Amino acid sequence: MDSILYFYRDPLFDIIILFSIIATIALLDYSRNKYRTHKKQQSLQALAQSYEHTTLNEDMSHFITLYPKATPFLINLAQTYAQSGDNEMAIKIFLSLLESNKNTKTKIIILESLGKTYLNAGFMQKSKDIFTQILKTYPRNATAMKLLIKSYENMGEYQKALEALECLDEIDSQTQDFYTNNQQYFYLLILLNAHNIPLYKKIQNATIIGKNNPLFDRIILRYLKNYDLKAFWNYVFCLNSVTNIIDILWEFSQENLHDEIINHPQIFEIFVAKGYFESKKECSVFELEILRTMHTYSTKKIHLAFEYRCHHCKAIFPFDSPRCPQCEELTQLDLILKPLQKIEL
Ligand SMILES: [Zn+2]
Repeated sequence: MDSILYFYRDPLFDIIILFSIIATIALLDYSRNKYRTHKKQQSLQALAQSYEHTTLNEDMSHFITLYPKATPFLINLAQTYAQSGDNEMAIKIFLSLLESNKNTKTKIIILESLGKTYLNAGFMQKSKDIFTQILKTYPRNATAMKLLIKSYENMGEYQKALEALECLDEIDSQTQDFYTNNQQYFYLLILLNAHNIPLYKKIQNATIIGKNNPLFDRIILRYLKNYDLKAFWNYVFCLNSVTNIIDILWEFSQENLHDEIINHPQIFEIFVAKGYFESKKECSVFELEILRTMHTYSTKKIHLAFEYRCHHCKAIFPFDSPRCPQCEELTQLDLILKPLQKIEL
């Protein structure tokens, strides 16, 4: 008995016990990590397999099995197809790559690209499922989180987009402008689409948001034009410049114009250029002046076309959008005026 007690009092015994505990914890931790990695791989494999049956290109799968080093080249090829608008071919290649690749890191890259292609092709639910699954496996994947926000935005789920934006800011700190602009943008969209807020309250709050951030002038004006013309004109009269909203004003018929426009030369000249009023005063905007002159001195019929240029990437689009379709920057696209001769058929 004494010998056992002596053994327990021995400092060497304490050290052995301590090392045994540390070794057991390390072993358990290693096993748990191994199990998690295995589950992640299984989860990604299951996600990949759920898409495989659609349009599997067997030749390409066979080729990748023989030459796995061709994978980066094929990812680039599929991305080029997607950029050129051939989403169907891009999806085929991505699906084939998914089946053939066993490497988890590569699978994530392919899934991100596939999700983005589905997003651009309009398959919102599929893209949302892919990004959600990637984030379940790798919650700190900022690229997938950004694309998930875009999916929510395109599906009109603005509250979820806002929550995801907060998660994104936690995993990958964004610039203050990016965060604030996107946060206000989703607040505005939630407000304008809410069914339980009275119209007057929506207009009041939207006007406050617009005054603090002119980035949203066009979204607010489009809303006001549809729901409250008086509020629309009040908003327009308070703007410092109307150069970037000429296209919205151009849509008005003469009978819907506000009497007060005569006191706002910048606005009035738009409707002189449209031919609603006559004026000998030169228009301050060159393109509007072309139209005014043609109305006054020529019999040729001219109309005004519009294009939109991103402030950041300089890409030009035929339609307006609050987010650049090319670089996805939240911005107010610059309005380009194009006076064109009307061709009578
Ligand atoms: Zn852009």
